[in-house]
Amino acid sequence: MTEHTTQKQRSRGRRRPKHVPQRTCVACREKEAKRQFVRIVRTPEGTVEIDLTGKKNGRGAYLCTRRSCWDKAASGSVLERALKVTLDQQIRDQLHRYADHHFRDE
Ligand SMILES: [Zn+2]
Repeated sequence: MTEHTTQKQRSRGRRRPKHVPQRTCVACREKEAKRQFVRIVRTPEGTVEIDLTGKKNGRGAYLCTRRSCWDKAASGSVLERALKVTLDQQIRDQLHRYADHHFRDE
């Protein structure tokens, strides 16, 4: 019997949904809802990590699951610009390795 009450209240909100996070790949700049993104985070400690949970604290940047984007991120400066941090060789290797394991050449 009370089910109708909830229905009524729902129809109130007619405005556009607030704060839908738009993810953009920092390498190819594509926004694609369907595409999977992997979050790269600069932690408050200043290290850069691949954030597989997507919930780590810090400044985040997203990479899509294209191999070429990871190669670009690992060797170039797109991630450094997005995260405002200098990537050391260790994280670059890590990105390369991650790409090696997860994304075969398309
Ligand atoms: Zn991309």
